Amino acid sequence: MIVDDHAHIFIYNDNKKIEENIEKNVKYIIENATDIGSINQVIEESKRYDIIYYALGLYPEIIENMEEDQIEKILNFIENNKDKKFVAIGEVGLDYAHEINEELVKKQKIYFERFLEISEKIKKPIIIHARRAESDVLEMLSSYNTKKVLHSFWKPSLVNKAIDLGCYLSIPAIVYRDEGFQKILKEAPIELITTETDAPYLDPIEKRKLVNNSWKVVYSIKKISEIKNMDEKEVEDTIYNNFIKLYDIYDE
Ligand SMILES: [Zn+2]
Repeated sequence: MIVDDHAHIFIYNDNKKIEENIEKNVKYIIENATDIGSINQVIEESKRYDIIYYALGLYPEIIENMEEDQIEKILNFIENNKDKKFVAIGEVGLDYAHEINEELVKKQKIYFERFLEISEKIKKPIIIHARRAESDVLEMLSSYNTKKVLHSFWKPSLVNKAIDLGCYLSIPAIVYRDEGFQKILKEAPIELITTETDAPYLDPIEKRKLVNNSWKVVYSIKKISEIKNMDEKEVEDTIYNNFIKLYDIYDE
């Protein structure tokens, strides 16, 4: 059974895109909210579709443009959300890949810490974005005792440090054609691997932007099986087990 722990299918705003995954037997998708609008969207989707679970967070670049009291309201909502389909904090983290200054870095860090504290407090994993900020992210993670999932972590030279910190590595379907992710896959032990797509971004085949979808996790499975020298069914089962344990999702 295939699972996707990091998607933004809500961006399509099209039910057919979700239904495509049901037809292709995807078992679970974790939609990751990135701002106020998508927080509402993913909660709505999860009510309409059994396969949709969700993570709540604020994307680092979004935080840069928000007022403190707005952010506090969201943090408060997340901390107190008791919905059983709310399974993780995410997408949160640090991003230095755009024009940034010291003040904005500071603001990103303050709220990333808050999300880490909430994750620890409510005992749900945290799904982390770390673009061009990988070493700062790892340094911050070392002080928190919570389940950490590095989404599309693209820094082969730091992967061993991430593994030492016990981080899960969520491998995107683009690993099918991306050598950097293939290197990471070689280093990562199978028990710390989960699968994702970051859909609609990072399509494993097409270079166009908005085409990816959760069922394309099948491409990650193929690549993992090749690199780890395991058969595809075994990879699928192992990752499924990692996933349900990590996010505490069990069928009723
Ligand atoms: Zn994402």
